[in-house]
Amino acid sequence: MKADLHLHSTASDGRFTPEELVRHVFQSGLTLMALTDHDSVDGAPAAIAAARAFPPLEVIPGVEIGTDVPHGEVHVLGYFVDYKSAGLLSRLESLRSGRVDRAQRMITKLKKLGVDIEWRRVQELAGGGSIGRPHIAQAMLEKGYIPNLKEAFNKYIGRDGPAYAEREKLTPEGAVQLVIRAGGLPVLAHPNDIESIDKLLIELKAAGLVGMEVYYGLYPAETVRRLKALAKRYDLIPCGGTDYHGLDTMNEAALGSILVPQESVDRLLALTRKKV
Ligand SMILES: [Zn+2]
Ligand SMILES: [Zn+2]
Repeated sequence: MKADLHLHSTASDGRFTPEELVRHVFQSGLTLMALTDHDSVDGAPAAIAAARAFPPLEVIPGVEIGTDVPHGEVHVLGYFVDYKSAGLLSRLESLRSGRVDRAQRMITKLKKLGVDIEWRRVQELAGGGSIGRPHIAQAMLEKGYIPNLKEAFNKYIGRDGPAYAEREKLTPEGAVQLVIRAGGLPVLAHPNDIESIDKLLIELKAAGLVGMEVYYGLYPAETVRRLKALAKRYDLIPCGGTDYHGLDTMNEAALGSILVPQESVDRLLALTRKKV
């Protein structure tokens, strides 16, 4: 199987609808794809239905859940989640609305500080995906309130900034548990930039993590080697994918440029069969 296990559609911040994405994936020669939109499984039914027209391509229903750690965000992927599970759907919905609510509170605070950006523009910049601080920063930059994106965080919306707002927190461990409750297989996304990675892997493995991304996006060979060794050390399945959003930028790996090893796919499939 030629597998890419990390892809985004318009169900979050990807450019292509699930149907279009499936067609592009097929045309790139892949035979297995996981649809992993941010905090959403809404694209799964359409992607699975669309793939029927492109045998032997198969779609794994998945999700990429954003979680909070002290110095940023950690993303947890869930493969083979029950995308009809009421519990999963309502939890994801509340994570998404929490982001909206938080962004609106930050915009209100900014207004009081004399920084007038429009909610509608922030929504547009998020492109239907999960709204975050980068979109607010972008809107500030566009209106000339700041000289660069970093300044938005330093002066306004960073953790100690005057316009910062909290939202309901989900820990990486909480996301692993959420995926497991929805019948899925939890996998740590793009782990290269995570601080204290060993500590996190030990915690998450205990919570039920089954794999971590190793073959990811534009990771150089040396990074892949290092992560592969890490996955082996903690007995985690080395997974990966392009994290394709269809954005046509130099910073994005092309469809078909990353293939998850057959052995990893087999190990994931074996775990799903064990559950049945
Ligand atoms: Zn991510
Ligand atoms: Zn992603």
